[in-house]
Amino acid sequence: MPELPEVETTLRGISPHVVGHKATELIVRQPRLRWPIPDDLAQQVAGHRLRGARRRGKYLLLDFGHGHVLIHLGMSGSLRIVKAAEPPLFHDHVDLVFGKQALRYGDPRRFGCWLWVEGDPDTHKLLADLGPEPLTDTFTADYLYERSRKRSQAVKQFIMDSKVVVGVGNIYANESLFMAGIKPIRKASALTRKECEQLVRDIKFVLQRSIDQGGTTLRDFVGGDGKPGYFKQQLLVYGRGNQPCMTCKKPLKEVRMNDRTTVYCVACQK
Ligand SMILES: [Zn+2]
Repeated sequence: MPELPEVETTLRGISPHVVGHKATELIVRQPRLRWPIPDDLAQQVAGHRLRGARRRGKYLLLDFGHGHVLIHLGMSGSLRIVKAAEPPLFHDHVDLVFGKQALRYGDPRRFGCWLWVEGDPDTHKLLADLGPEPLTDTFTADYLYERSRKRSQAVKQFIMDSKVVVGVGNIYANESLFMAGIKPIRKASALTRKECEQLVRDIKFVLQRSIDQGGTTLRDFVGGDGKPGYFKQQLLVYGRGNQPCMTCKKPLKEVRMNDRTTVYCVACQK
């Protein structure tokens, strides 16, 4: 599944090719994504210049001035820049054409979305309740500490809640909790102020490192420049259940939490 670092990498990969360019056409081959692509989307964007592109959580926002195209990559979506004349592959459902080149959207499982948003996109129902961006100064230890009071859920679920903070997917939750020395199954409300400091620091670290490496491994991600986005990163716990902890050598424990693989060290994580 494309996570925040892949979406950020996609944004950085596509932006130089499309921002400032005029969209000439929108070709929809398959409108049935998670929600149907609006019938008038082509009409909204054709002939308009793309003024900017940004990311909010795992959503991409293409700013056309009079409105935004809101894109989510879902479980298996990818965006790449292609020559507009290049024949589409089977799962290439949308082309946003800019003259001779196109921003092409492929999505085998079709859980992504392409929507049109008028007005302030941050107040759109998909974005309005999102928590702070983890890599900005709004995501602080004070913030996390305050939000975690009275939260009886496990700390792993807590940090994966996009209303608390966006973009902490399963891999990043496992890794940052190991680095911070916090057991994923502990109650969020039991976090100390000091632990929140460590956790915030380590969440920022694992996400930034992944962005720097151009995204983590995942099946269907294609880099914004058309190169496969496979960057196997050095993971300390994720995918290493029953293997020795890199710190103390004891076997790592693997459990399911909310149907997600959770790996941690019973000795190093308190
Ligand atoms: Zn250990």
